[in-house]
Amino acid sequence: MGYYLINNGTLIDGTGNKPVKDAAVLIKDNTIEYAGREDELEPQETSTEVIDAQGGFILPGFIDGHLHLMTNGFHMEDTMYDPLSIFFYKSVENMHLTLNAGVTTVRDAGLADYGVKMAVESGLIKGPRMQVSISPLSITGGHFDFWLKSGFDMKISYPGYPDSVCDGVEGVRRKVREVMRAGAEVIKVMATGGVMSANDSPEHPQFSLEEFKVIIEEAQTRGISTMAHAHGSQGIKNAVEAGVHSIEHGTYIDEEAIEMMRDRHVYLVPTLLTQKINKKIAESGGMAEYRVEDAIRIVDIHRRNMEKAYKAGLTIVMGTDCGVIEHGVNLQELELLCEIGMKPMEAIMAGTRVSAERMGWQDKIGTLEAGKLADAVICKTNPLSDINSLGNPENIGVVIKDGKLFKDLRML
Ligand SMILES: [Zn+2]
Repeated sequence: MGYYLINNGTLIDGTGNKPVKDAAVLIKDNTIEYAGREDELEPQETSTEVIDAQGGFILPGFIDGHLHLMTNGFHMEDTMYDPLSIFFYKSVENMHLTLNAGVTTVRDAGLADYGVKMAVESGLIKGPRMQVSISPLSITGGHFDFWLKSGFDMKISYPGYPDSVCDGVEGVRRKVREVMRAGAEVIKVMATGGVMSANDSPEHPQFSLEEFKVIIEEAQTRGISTMAHAHGSQGIKNAVEAGVHSIEHGTYIDEEAIEMMRDRHVYLVPTLLTQKINKKIAESGGMAEYRVEDAIRIVDIHRRNMEKAYKAGLTIVMGTDCGVIEHGVNLQELELLCEIGMKPMEAIMAGTRVSAERMGWQDKIGTLEAGKLADAVICKTNPLSDINSLGNPENIGVVIKDGKLFKDLRML
């Protein structure tokens, strides 16, 4: 380790401040020592390796606020055919693709256990920094209950990955404790049915208000926040009223729910990309019959409602639900955030500073400022004039995570 100096580029630091031309970012070990104009940086005495940004744009490493590193398509039958270890081996590539796309931190919204995080942190494999939720909580017959009408149960559970299903006040309290015991850093709750699940519909609320309150209360005993998968408005309201910290998807959000979220500063993680790609897959015939109808009709409704939520001033975090769709396309979400009304700079912040805040890690990551961990990307194109260019990993020339160079296309 030692010093890296990134120079000859324009700095977009993630704070929302104006871009800085002729910028430099100085990294010592895994920490940023300086970010700003190069001519204001004092000359370095120690030997420094220079990373020439070649006129590109220097940004913070991006933070995907909602994905699933351990799955490739969420095909329920995979759990029947594939030995458990296959999911872990595949996740290694998923993590590479995620880093390659410029995403250096993720909030895993279900399925990654604590060992996946440990493997990355110990340097055993290369992957994004992660905050894991491990097992999402689901009611019996809910979005993460994989018991089929045939009577087959397609669930995965193993030591380190508790079963998701829980009911009743005492049941959910115990489940939160179990999931925290397994290492969860955020509690994920299924507050409604899913777009593509076998037993329910996205409009149906799941868990009662009473159950929700206990889940959140129990998580907060350890200072752990909660995230709710919620499509239907009643499920959103239940979760928000109980004190949840973010709503994921938010498809059928109505004005009352928007108001409640705004008043209580609840984050919204729209995951627009997955809905868009799912629609394409459904239309091309590549989806199980029971999923097609939901997948197609939901997209336009979702987008309109996200526009309303944005206009009403909700705080939006970039999350993709990658895993449901392919990995490594994460930053395509930014263009979709702009389609619901964001300016490119706001979309970048939704994927950096704001996403870090949602995780409670705003002191460590999310912006390129002195004292933060050294996660940075260099984009060859100008994301402020072409936000979609960030969505193509070929434009992400350099990726640095925790002060280590993961990707460098400059010599190619
Ligand atoms: Zn998800």
